[in-house]
Amino acid sequence: MEKIKMTTPLVEMDGDEMTRILWKWIKDELILPFVDLKTEYYDLGLEYRNRTDDKVTVESAEATKKYGVAVKCATITPNAARMTEYDLKEMWKSPNGTIRAILDGTVFRAPIIVKGIEPYVKNWKKPITIARHAYGDVYKAAEMKIPGAGKAELVFTGEDGTETRELIHEFKGAGVLQGQHNLESSIKSFARSCFNFALDTKQDLWFATKDTISKKYDHTFKDIFKEIYDKEYDEKFKAAGIEYFYTLIDDAVARVIRSEGGYIWACKNYDGDVMSDMVATAFGSLSMMTSVLVSPEGNYEYEAAHGTVQRHYYKHLKGEKTSTNPIATIFAWTGALRKRGELDGIKELCEFADKLEAACIKTIEDGRMTNDLAIITTAQNPTVLNSEDFIKAIRNTYESM
Ligand code: NAP
Ligand code: MG
Repeated sequence: MEKIKMTTPLVEMDGDEMTRILWKWIKDELILPFVDLKTEYYDLGLEYRNRTDDKVTVESAEATKKYGVAVKCATITPNAARMTEYDLKEMWKSPNGTIRAILDGTVFRAPIIVKGIEPYVKNWKKPITIARHAYGDVYKAAEMKIPGAGKAELVFTGEDGTETRELIHEFKGAGVLQGQHNLESSIKSFARSCFNFALDTKQDLWFATKDTISKKYDHTFKDIFKEIYDKEYDEKFKAAGIEYFYTLIDDAVARVIRSEGGYIWACKNYDGDVMSDMVATAFGSLSMMTSVLVSPEGNYEYEAAHGTVQRHYYKHLKGEKTSTNPIATIFAWTGALRKRGELDGIKELCEFADKLEAACIKTIEDGRMTNDLAIITTAQNPTVLNSEDFIKAIRNTYESM
């Protein structure tokens, strides 16, 4: 059988621990036999990041800007324990944070839906994709403990020295204080990434803030979205038969629960943090959640939403077989290959991605799965497989389709 040819390389970002092991198995068993794979390889494993003073992370993000599509394995974000474990020169920053800052992108997370893994919300039939604004608000806030009575003010000093003041509160006693900010440029990038992704995936876009209470801060988010939508996207959305819908955050939460799913829910930073955990849990499993970083210029970086599954890796190192779920990592590969196929006009690559995803879903729906799914499935007597056997089962399904 002739392998599918590629014209432009994918940016391949290798990673850490159990997901690094799965990475190789997935490539060997599910990709390389079928695709004449072209990648530009960057090793984002912690050892090599440390050796290159984390330059490799920056280079991989620059390459993503150059080629447009990347696929990333989960990576360790170092903490104190990792400093000793890997004898690190520095506590390197989160690679995802570094890549996101360079691409100025928004992260979209969506669950993979299969029969037998039922959402806790019984009317959810289609995926709900959460788009989280990844800059500012409470995550970049300045905070103060107020010891006692006194006056708190917001002061903005312009470059020419002029001051604008706004009273926050006349404290009669002790309290707390917080100053948040965001940037027009960042909100615009967020809006464009969301509108582009909605067009890309042909799904409605919902956005919600608390603009009735926050008449300047949240209202600015609402206004920027509306202005960009009206000017740049209204016609495109109508032509695609999709809708942009704005509402208050509390109304959105109520509607989401009553909905069937099948749309993108754009959230401010904090709302996205909290709601993505709720939506992920309600859909059944973190190991079935995909994630894609989309820049306003239309660069894409695909990955699994979960981490490096450290506990399983230590078992693997002891020579034990683990039943780590490779599905979200496989879908990172299919997402990236499909996008590469779309951009380069290679129909076979898109079809390959569709078929491999279908093979994953069919394998699970036929009752063969990893342990994390077996313990929550409604299917009778599932066969629990270790990662290697599960990947082989997916290959068998693929070849029988
Ligand atoms: P994690 O790797 O997502 O794993 C947490 C637990 O969730 C696992 O111990 C496992 O539960 C379960 N799990 C997650 N993915 C699974 C899969 N594919 N198959 C089966 N079970 C799965 O999160 P973590 O343990 O908090 O973090 C480990 C490392 O990953 C950290 O160094 C962190 O910095 C990094 N991380 C990276 C990313 C990223 O690169 N995008 C994201 C998050 C975390 P059981 O042990 O009960 O089986
Ligand atoms: Mg969170």
